[in-house]
Amino acid sequence: GMPAAPPPVLAPRRRTRSLQVGTVQVGGDAPISVQSMTTTVTADVNATLQQIAELTAAGCDIVRVACPTQDDADALPAIARKSQIPVIADIHFQPKYVFAAIEAGCAAVRVNPGNIKKFDDKVKEIAQAAKEHRTPIRIGVNAGSLDPRLLAKHGKATPEALVESALWEASLFAEHDFHDIKISVKHNDPVVMVRAYELLSEACDYPLHLGVTEAGPAFQGTIKSAVAFGALLRQGIGDTIRVSLSAPPVEEIKVGTQILQSLNLRPRKLEIVSCPSCGRAQVDVYTLAEEVTAGLEGMEVPLRVAVMGCVVNGPGEAREADLGVASGNGKGQIFVKGKVIKTVPEHQIVETLIEEAMRIAETMEDV
Ligand code: SF4
Repeated sequence: GMPAAPPPVLAPRRRTRSLQVGTVQVGGDAPISVQSMTTTVTADVNATLQQIAELTAAGCDIVRVACPTQDDADALPAIARKSQIPVIADIHFQPKYVFAAIEAGCAAVRVNPGNIKKFDDKVKEIAQAAKEHRTPIRIGVNAGSLDPRLLAKHGKATPEALVESALWEASLFAEHDFHDIKISVKHNDPVVMVRAYELLSEACDYPLHLGVTEAGPAFQGTIKSAVAFGALLRQGIGDTIRVSLSAPPVEEIKVGTQILQSLNLRPRKLEIVSCPSCGRAQVDVYTLAEEVTAGLEGMEVPLRVAVMGCVVNGPGEAREADLGVASGNGKGQIFVKGKVIKTVPEHQIVETLIEEAMRIAETMEDV
């Protein structure tokens, strides 16, 4: 039959240059990629590769590793070679590690121009080495480590200051005919951050790496990132994203993936449509929704499962979904594609939904 029309998005993607981070294309018409950063000591190769494997399994497209010491730099070749996803080395302070990372075969290198003394003098050499190895560079400007000259000029890390820093460094690379650059201008305040990326996006066509830096613990960081990324993605701005959470990196991947899925920028997988519950609820909706979500974790097909607390909106939503339950009177009416297929006692709702979900998922995979 006819291929299904792609789901609607809020804005066309802004056109950016495209570059190749190992096997992953960033910018141009490439899908928006999701990144995270390892929390292990990079020099501990096994622990780092183990965490990268967990991130890969969670759907991470690109992973970044810190490189604060020579031991870490020495570990980069093995990590870059054995990782299943492209590895970006994150370099602060020490230009010599930029060269080490390029030599190590890292898929890209992130540099923080505000943090490397006399960075401007090093650009020529970095551009040469990066060009030779076809290694893209991320210019990662961060409010907390802004170039002191720009801090003095602007008084604080304003959007204009962040953008000026990034564009200045990009222009130095461009002078040496190096353009494989992506840029980030991170701030912990979503308002400043959004404005900075808007300005940056008007001023250049380099691919942009979105991030709210130091966004906080999972709850606050998720909201700050979702709101800020949403405001930018609504304008087609953003080629790769990193959600920063004070939480395990796999959580960052889950949040980043969910942000893209919610805007149809990545195919949706499992979606639980559950009601907030109210005084009409005849079942514990929270527990039911949690148990169904846990039971279906890792589902790879775009299944919408409705979990409704009563029969007011229940049957309607349950009918719109692939599968659903509307509860009432200690029972659950199980709907599949709009039809009640059975009514089960409350204690069998979860197992029945999971069973039916698995059955539907199999038919979807066959297609
Ligand atoms: Fe309340 Fe029923 Fe709506 Fe859930 S489905 S919020 S229980 S009215």
